[in-house]
Amino acid sequence: TFPLDSISENYDRRNVPNAVFSVVEPTPLKGQTVLAGISSAALDLIDLLPSVATSSIFRDFASGAWRHPSSTPVAHRYGGYQFGWWAQQLGDGRAHLLGHYTNRRGKWWELQLKGSGKTPYSRYGDGRAVIRSSVREFLAAEAMDALGFRTSRSASLVVGDELAKRDQFYNGNLKMEKTAVVLRLAPTWFRFGSLEILAKRQEVESLKFLVDHIINKHFPTISVTDPDRYLSMFSTVVEETAEMIAQWQSVGFTHGVMNTDNMSIVSVTIDYGPYGFLDTYDPDFVPNSSDEDGMYSYKNQPGVGFNNLQRLGNALDQLLTPDQTPQMKTILDGYDTKFRQVYLTLFSKKLGFKNFKQEDEQLIKNLLNMMKINEADFTMTFWELGNITLQELEAKKLSRKFWALDKIVNDDKFPQFVEKYKSRLQEEELSDDSRRGIMATVNPRYVLRNWIAQQVIEKVEQSSFHDLDLVLRILRNPFHSQDEAEKKGYANAPPCWSQKLRVSCSS
Ligand code: AMP
Ligand code: MG
Ligand code: MG
Repeated sequence: TFPLDSISENYDRRNVPNAVFSVVEPTPLKGQTVLAGISSAALDLIDLLPSVATSSIFRDFASGAWRHPSSTPVAHRYGGYQFGWWAQQLGDGRAHLLGHYTNRRGKWWELQLKGSGKTPYSRYGDGRAVIRSSVREFLAAEAMDALGFRTSRSASLVVGDELAKRDQFYNGNLKMEKTAVVLRLAPTWFRFGSLEILAKRQEVESLKFLVDHIINKHFPTISVTDPDRYLSMFSTVVEETAEMIAQWQSVGFTHGVMNTDNMSIVSVTIDYGPYGFLDTYDPDFVPNSSDEDGMYSYKNQPGVGFNNLQRLGNALDQLLTPDQTPQMKTILDGYDTKFRQVYLTLFSKKLGFKNFKQEDEQLIKNLLNMMKINEADFTMTFWELGNITLQELEAKKLSRKFWALDKIVNDDKFPQFVEKYKSRLQEEELSDDSRRGIMATVNPRYVLRNWIAQQVIEKVEQSSFHDLDLVLRILRNPFHSQDEAEKKGYANAPPCWSQKLRVSCSS
């Protein structure tokens, strides 16, 4: 029922007018394929048991070699602002939407393959994804979900022996890399750019059709006959995007490519590419080596979220009556309030407070500032604060395991911080055990640090999948110290060899 592009054999860079999807079959990976990993938690969302991993039909399904008879694979046409510029038509250049599945709890999931071959939107790309980016996407989505955050999901990772060329060199020559396919799930894969392309090309009828569909399917509290439905929808997207980005900030997640084509219309984190989690707390952290100006640095994320919402608002504006248009600004003004509310609630929990008080903002700022100046590890500082008693903290009695706190306890501002922290905790009437109990539910011991991902990638490239499964299991339980993870040093500061690791858009 969507405006469909006619089926075409010609996948050269095409301009596709008046369509939301193009019908196109996945291209199976050449040669042997293996199922390198599954997430049983994600598979459960589509009512599959982990035992499907032993079935060759599942492997073929999850890599695009076998199509379910009820599925019509399509590639989605979208556009987007990339690094601040309108990039014209983009689209699923290496992804195929297989269809949707309503699970036993009545929840709708859209299944998508990534790395499954060329489409009318491939431009100059080969339609493939290499192991590096596929492992990183597979693990990160599942890790973010386990942290309790808004995200797409990854059900499986299939690795093939078909090779692709990217920006990696070996002895001065471009290295050939093995490719892979990830089976991804999301409530929907529509993005801000899905609407933007239709608005920019004046395809207003399609725009209205698509937005009404999205409201009907994904915004159940909004009536499709309500004349204010576009305003209500926008207001929800503004709030939920603010919430998502506040969640990112609270664990040091830096997306890396916050283009409007990578912003989900239902505000889940999508398109895990050159992202990174903070090691030492550096607000200017930029994980993406292609982002030379640091446009998408950690500290810029809240502001970029706002700009992207503004652009979404411009697209939606085409569906508004003249008296509705001025209300968009009021809705956008709510972004900052919502972001701050969620951000401060999350960070005050990270300090162990039950309730947020206005004065906590300064306390949080002071702590972050000490972390920045003294290059303390973001994840570990909060973890250690939640694992040390207040007396030990005050007396600066640190055992060797408190390597992150060790960096800040001698800061001039430290005594003042502890003093204020103590008095706030007294106000909360919390025992020290309760404080640490609260902190243990929000401060992860493990995040997907770049060096950990890199070790897994190297193993998977050598067809060894044990560590992939191990790291997934650890990250699915991020708040608890686990022996295997400790042995591998996954909570430690990054080892020296990893300092020169770079990730880029091209993968
Ligand atoms: P991204 O930076 O991953 O959001 O990708 C930007 C655009 O480039 C999207 O439209 C992708 O579908 C497309 N793209 C990225 N890599 C490839 C590839 N290897 N083959 C075809 N299209 C690609
Ligand atoms: Mg993308
Ligand atoms: Mg990408």
